[in-house]
Parts: sequence; C-alpha cells; structure tokens
Amino acid sequence: MGQGRAIGLVSGKGGVGKTTLTVNLGVALKDFGQEVTLVDTDFSASNLGVHLGQYEHPVKTQHVLRNQAEPESAVFRHPEGVKAMVASNELNQVEPELTELAKVIASTKEDSDIVLVDCPPGIDHTVEQVMSAVDELLVVTLPTQSSGINAAQVVEKAKQLRKPVLGTVVNRHEDNPENELVEREMEMMTESHVMSHIPEDSAVKESLFDNKPFVSAQPLSPAAIQTKKLAADIAGVNYEEPSFARLKRGFRQIKENITR
Ligand code: ADP
Ligand code: MG
Repeated sequence: MGQGRAIGLVSGKGGVGKTTLTVNLGVALKDFGQEVTLVDTDFSASNLGVHLGQYEHPVKTQHVLRNQAEPESAVFRHPEGVKAMVASNELNQVEPELTELAKVIASTKEDSDIVLVDCPPGIDHTVEQVMSAVDELLVVTLPTQSSGINAAQVVEKAKQLRKPVLGTVVNRHEDNPENELVEREMEMMTESHVMSHIPEDSAVKESLFDNKPFVSAQPLSPAAIQTKKLAADIAGVNYEEPSFARLKRGFRQIKENITR
C-alpha cells in the first residue's frame, strides 16, 4: 500500500456538507477497493463521530496531537469498512496543538490509499495549518452566492499555500438555475473545476438520522449515485451509473433547454 493521498475537504463556511461528504465519499471509495481513513480535524464542531454513529472510541485526534497516544490507537475500523480517527468536542480539548498534525496525517497515509480529512470551516490560522498538512484539497460549497464567495476565498488560500485543488463539489444542488449559481458561474467565481453536483436529497437526512451513510443505506438515491461518481473519479476507476438515473437526467436537461 505505502503512501496514500491525503485529501482535505474544505469550505469557507460550516454547514455545507463536509462531514456528510467525508463519510459517504469514504465509504464509496472503500467500495471501489480503496483502503480509506477518515480524520476529523474540525475541533470546535467535531461531528464525524456522530455521523459515523460510533463516537465512543476513547482515543481522539487531540490525544494524538498532544503526544498522549500513538496515531494507531486513535484509528478504529468502522463496520462500514473505513477506518476513522475522530475528534473530541469537549470544551477543554477544542484548541489542540497543531504542530504535530502533518506527522499524524503522514502516519495515517502509511496504511491507507486515501485519507480524507474533515477540515474546520473558514480560512483562519487553524484551517491554514490543516490545509498545509494535506496533499490535495476538495472544496465543498452550496450553490449559493455567499457560499461560492467563501469557496473562492478557500481556493485563494490554497493558491497561497501552493496546495493543489482537485476541484469543487457543489452540494445540495436543486437544479434551479433561477435561484442557484450554475456550474459556469461557480467555476468563474472559484477559478476551479466543478467536479460534482450532489443533489438536495431527503436520503441524506434520513440516513443521518439512522446513523448510516446514505451510499450504503440508500445506494440508489440521487445523492448516493453522484457521490459514487465522484469517488470513481478520484480513484480513477470506471463507474456505470444505473441506467434509470441517466435517463432521468437526460429528461431534465431536455426540459431545461426548452425552458431557457
Ligand atoms: P459541515 O460538515 O460542512 O458543517 P454537515 O455535513 O454537517 O456540514 O451537513 C450539514 C447538514 O446538511 C446536515 O444536517 C446534513 O444532513 C445536511 N445535508 C448535507 N448534504 C445534504 C444533501 N445533499 N441533501 C440534503 N441535506 C444535506
Ligand atoms: Mg462538519
């Protein structure tokens, strides 16, 4: 296995779906045969453990950053097949020492093909340190102007840090060009490539309520299909989306062209 890639999921602001995508992209990548480790670095609003439905693992990211534990003891294997290191959200743990972060991520890369790092929102010093510790960045945004502006700031920061941006994921997309930024506008704003549109989908909330990733709980949901396509893109493998999903999108595009 050797050296894996560490991909940081970043966004200008919180609540855009970073943690949801970290979990579901991770499970989708695992389904394509990748050994995946998820690392929670969102210390002030850490909820990767909640999304995984298994947050009682005693050793957290902060313990490792403080040299109180080895990275291996913080990593656990989740029933969905991915490995994970989750952060504590106890108040006295929220400001960890980040100087060790690059080492911790390097160590998780040793026995993973892909490490997905759930980053804190914003572009402050903490985020900068997390961004510096990963190899590549995936920017997550909503299809709104304000979220796009925040995404553009993150891309700018990535340029300053000379970190490659894989692309942008537009999440909670509703296919409503009158109320949303379209792909071209988002690409102009962020100066990055839109890799994926993940639709607004009730499967996301339903599966979160059941503490299950939607890619495995509702594998035929539109959000799951788009997440799998993105995972295939990242892993460089082929993915044939179910034919009914292609048909549905075809019809939608015809409708859009007629109404323009
Ligand atoms: P972040 O980690 O960026 O703060 P979360 O992953 O916690 O964001 O997601 C915020 C909320 O948005 C959650 O309640 C989640 O269920 C919801 N959400 C995320 N993506 C979608 C989607 N594609 N469709 C519907 N709801 C979504
Ligand atoms: Mg989050």
